[in-house]
Amino acid sequence: MKQVYLDYSATTPVKKEVLQEMLPFFSEGFGNPSSLYSPGQASKEAIATARMRLASLIGASEREVFFTSSGTEADNWAILGACDAQSKKGKHVITTKIEHHAVLHSCEFLEKHGYRVTYLEVGPDGVVGLKALEDAITDETVLVSIMLINNEIGTMQPVKELCAAAHERGILFHTDAVQALGNVPIDVKDLGIDLMSVSAHKIYGPKGVGALYMKKGTRISNYMHGGAQEGKKRAGTENLAGIVGFGKAAALAEGNLGEHIKRVTELREYLIDQVLSEIPDVFLNGNRKLRHPGNANFTFKYIEGEAALLLLDTKGIFVSTGSACSSESLEPSHVLSALNIPAEFIHGSLRLTIGDFTTKEDIDYVVGELAAIVVRLREISSVSNEKGW
Ligand SMILES: *Cc1c(COP(=O)(O)O)cnc(C)c1O
Repeated sequence: MKQVYLDYSATTPVKKEVLQEMLPFFSEGFGNPSSLYSPGQASKEAIATARMRLASLIGASEREVFFTSSGTEADNWAILGACDAQSKKGKHVITTKIEHHAVLHSCEFLEKHGYRVTYLEVGPDGVVGLKALEDAITDETVLVSIMLINNEIGTMQPVKELCAAAHERGILFHTDAVQALGNVPIDVKDLGIDLMSVSAHKIYGPKGVGALYMKKGTRISNYMHGGAQEGKKRAGTENLAGIVGFGKAAALAEGNLGEHIKRVTELREYLIDQVLSEIPDVFLNGNRKLRHPGNANFTFKYIEGEAALLLLDTKGIFVSTGSACSSESLEPSHVLSALNIPAEFIHGSLRLTIGDFTTKEDIDYVVGELAAIVVRLREISSVSNEKGW
């Protein structure tokens, strides 16, 4: 049966070239990068190369890039570390209602420890307003954390302007760029941000490795305590093969960025046009232009997204409702709720995300199957409505 993976925002397949570079580090290249003899130094060199490649992709210096176990760890470290280092200055943090749970739950942890957190609203198109941020800043504010691209609806935030507003008041700015990396050009110097989280498995690298960009001179407390790895800032023996894979994935992303964005955006626009013209009673969530190149998030009225997801699965089509992280809860997505979409419609939402291995034929197949499934589900729900269920 034909299989079409349209969930690139949940994770991406590891590219062949990435796997090739990783493999030796599981076998003969196993030296501990902290060891002083030559196999250890070879591992250390491999990590230095990966760091250079990732730094180059984001316009940073190598000394500003610190590898972590995930994007989640980078978010936790940035938020808890920045707050701990400034606990004497104040205990107020500003973020948004549409952040990833790695940010939201870190902020909830802070609230349990005496911090006040402001969760900014977004407009109906999913974009945070500059004035909302300016109005929320107080003399107690020590950190602003606003994501570059949202993982559910794909909207981009005006991070450069938001960061400038925070800096005007002397406040540190963190951005979760996990969805943005490899999907839009990122230049940390141009954005001006102090802290930025990224992850390998969203850019065709392996799972279980991420990084935190920390602008030179930014002081945050350590989060992992132990050995002297990562310039004494992040303890724990490095995920050597994972870091090597992240570096290769970053180099591939940098070489291919323009082409990737152009190709994926064209496919996304084709998908959106097809869905909106072939299926009645459907709308696109999030700003159509200011969005992740591969993200299309739709609400289909009068159906259950979960039911559509499972029926698509039987056709070899893999998509998600909201984000993968919310798949085990029946709570309506916090992101779609923040857009003020009525709860009964939120349950009819599907996220389709396109990547480097998606083809136009894949989209045609998906739109055909999806249109049939939506008709089928609406028939069932209208029958149940007639019976008064
Ligand atoms: C995937 C994702 C994360 C978490 O990264 P992991 O490496 O999976 O822990 C954080 N933020 C956003 C926006 C993401 O999409």
